[in-house]
Amino acid sequence: MATALAVDVGDFEFSQQEAHGVVSVHNLGFGRSTAACSCGWAGHRRRLKAAATQDAWAHCLLDRCSVSSPLVVLW
Ligand SMILES: [Zn+2]
Repeated sequence: MATALAVDVGDFEFSQQEAHGVVSVHNLGFGRSTAACSCGWAGHRRRLKAAATQDAWAHCLLDRCSVSSPLVVLW
């Protein structure tokens, strides 16, 4: 199953500040995943890892943070 996130980067107004956090998706078990960032941001708890991953990427686009590698980690 493929999931696509259609985002027009031109819709976002980027601030001039540099990236200041690293976001990762925490897999809390079956049907429980959430994205969290070292800048203090935390996403909603999601049933799908893919939805939490989209939260993480959207946060990176809006707040200029970076993604961790690997993005999804066991918690
Ligand atoms: Zn952040």
